[in-house]
Amino acid sequence: MSIPFYDAIVIGAGAAGLFCAAQAGQRGLKVLLIDHADKVAEKIRISGGGRCNFTNRDLDPAAPHKHFVGQNPQFCRSALSRYTTADFIALVQKHGIAFHEKHKGQLFADRSAEDIIAMLLAECAAGGVTHWQPCGVKKIAFSAPGAGESSAGSYQMDTDRGPVAARSLVIATGGLSIPKIGATDFGYRLAQQFGIALIERRPGLVPLTFDGADWAPYAQLAGLALPVQISTGAKKNRMAFDEDLLFTHRGLSGPAVLQISSYWQEGTPLAINLAPHTDLSTALLQAKARSKKRIANELATLVPSRLADAWAGQDADWQRPVNEASDKALARLAERLARWELTPMGTEGYKKAEVTLGGVDTRALSQQTMECKTQPGLYFIGEVVDVTGWLGGYNFQWAWASAHACAQALPA
Ligand SMILES: Cc1cc2nc3c(=O)[nH]c(=O)nc-3n(C[C@H](O)[C@H](O)[C@H](O)COP(=O)(O)OP(=O)(O)OC[C@H]3O[C@@H](n4cnc5c(N)ncnc54)[C@H](O)[C@@H]3O)c2cc1C
Repeated sequence: MSIPFYDAIVIGAGAAGLFCAAQAGQRGLKVLLIDHADKVAEKIRISGGGRCNFTNRDLDPAAPHKHFVGQNPQFCRSALSRYTTADFIALVQKHGIAFHEKHKGQLFADRSAEDIIAMLLAECAAGGVTHWQPCGVKKIAFSAPGAGESSAGSYQMDTDRGPVAARSLVIATGGLSIPKIGATDFGYRLAQQFGIALIERRPGLVPLTFDGADWAPYAQLAGLALPVQISTGAKKNRMAFDEDLLFTHRGLSGPAVLQISSYWQEGTPLAINLAPHTDLSTALLQAKARSKKRIANELATLVPSRLADAWAGQDADWQRPVNEASDKALARLAERLARWELTPMGTEGYKKAEVTLGGVDTRALSQQTMECKTQPGLYFIGEVVDVTGWLGGYNFQWAWASAHACAQALPA
């Protein structure tokens, strides 16, 4: 019996894999899409709180370093400028999916992330894509073309549904975050099999944790959310975000911390301004001139009252009526809130991370096609590559754009 042969096999039916298979199929290629998970595109389903923040209007393809992290953010410039936010919005509109803009250019489906999944499946159907799911892939081998052969070689694989082969192989198996819904290190292992360099992986867009004893005074603040400015890094590489912070039982989360986590280096401190829009020092001195209330009560008019109580409780000088406090004590309190320095112990890890930093080294790939420079016919797209976006729809836009670049380049 002859082994089924496809123009391209895409492994991973997530954001990048579905989109790549659909686009290649619509170009007339015979495409097989394989995924080992029971359900298609689980990460899209849980993304954006169930509404999928599918792209971001603020993305500037000419300046990818503004919103992407990795050894070489310029790598994604070509793909991002050939398949833009506007292109994906046009597709969403073509499918009649209502959406809205939330915060800083972030676009979400009005109804549900399921609408984006249904759209991608419809696009795959329009491209005549064959879909094997659930189906594990056991072994992959490459046959180089024989001497004098004009073909580029082919990939053979053993799967749960039998052997299959293709001229091109696209790896879209994503990163390591949320293993319980199907994330694996498949892409990284395959890269190693073919001698493709990897950049060290670590969780990104992830809550940060602190030493239990050090955190005890703040654990009572769990559930409190407030706008802050958060920063990390030495002067030249300093990164700062103005976003909401969330206190948890074990540490810090919320958009501010998820964003900074992709830049934070282990063992280094974070600096947090807990009242970035208020001149606390001046406000406390003004309160001193007109009020006899306790400092915590005056502070509670400037920052959330739970935060005011927790901070004022840290020093005997701050537990008195504001008119009895020294100017120096008030300035110290203001400074402690405006520049709270703390060093995380670690992160909540892949079980809570939204993305994986690092991955397939972009130097090994063509930025036009996503094909490996040293392994003909092998492509890596989406999160498995060392390109990580900020929170806010950037990771999906990278998935769409890298998938599109690859799909246009796959030989028929
Ligand atoms: C909770 C959460 C919320 C998020 N929200 C957003 C958001 O709103 N906006 C945004 O831009 N980004 C968001 N992200 C990030 C975004 O989901 C990913 O960056 C994106 O899905 C990556 O696309 P991908 O196709 O590369 O990988 P994935 O979408 O993860 O797809 C990988 C696929 O490969 C399959 N696979 C893995 N291993 C194997 C194997 N061994 N064999 C066969 N198949 C395999 C998986 O089952 C999966 O279907 C969120 C992530 C999480 C975890």
